[in-house]
Amino acid sequence: MQYDPEGIFAKIIRKEIDANIVYESENVVAFEDINPKAPVHILIVPKAEVATVNDFTPDQASLIGEMVLAAQQIAKEKGVSESGYRLVMNTMDDAGQEIYHVHLHLLGGRRLKWPPG
Ligand code: AMP
Repeated sequence: MQYDPEGIFAKIIRKEIDANIVYESENVVAFEDINPKAPVHILIVPKAEVATVNDFTPDQASLIGEMVLAAQQIAKEKGVSESGYRLVMNTMDDAGQEIYHVHLHLLGGRRLKWPPG
């Protein structure tokens, strides 16, 4: 999938568009979802230009790990570590991916249905 450097998340990373940023490191930024599907709904985004999970390369394995570790830390800060939370990476059309800058959803704060449908 072609990466669009003028996409919404690219602009959030460059601070050209406002977002409620809850975490930032050298390689990763995380912010509140603008249309939350749960009481806690955070998007964890790599700063690298990666459109979908399909586009990760083997040298980005540690970046993927950083995203999960960021989610772990944010879940703790948001108080859902023990109650439970879900990490989701929607990939391509059938999964409902809307933004083609790869992102990890962190959802929690309520009972989540499974399977998601
Ligand atoms: P996905 O469907 O997995 O691509 O998820 C995209 C998510 O981005 C959705 O949950 C949207 O609510 C969220 N979103 C879209 N625009 C923004 C924005 N400007 N700031 C924060 N979240 C956004």
